[in-house]
Amino acid sequence: MTETTSVWYGRCPCGGAYRDRSIDVPIRSTTFPLVITDVGQGSCLLCDSRVYKASTLLMVEASTTEESLKLRR
Ligand SMILES: [Zn+2]
Repeated sequence: MTETTSVWYGRCPCGGAYRDRSIDVPIRSTTFPLVITDVGQGSCLLCDSRVYKASTLLMVEASTTEESLKLRR
């Protein structure tokens, strides 16, 4: 049995391992709909809690910050 687990996410607090997968993340925006595709996400094999890679969070944050900067003008 081969499980695709990733060292990226470490271990869940429940003790389970995270499985690597990729999802599409919609960003709620007032100007236009934005979807970040192929975002790396880990989902716990035991409790199904979700984590994201740090680089992914930075990417998402960058996109939303860009948006808020535009709105602030
Ligand atoms: Zn868990």
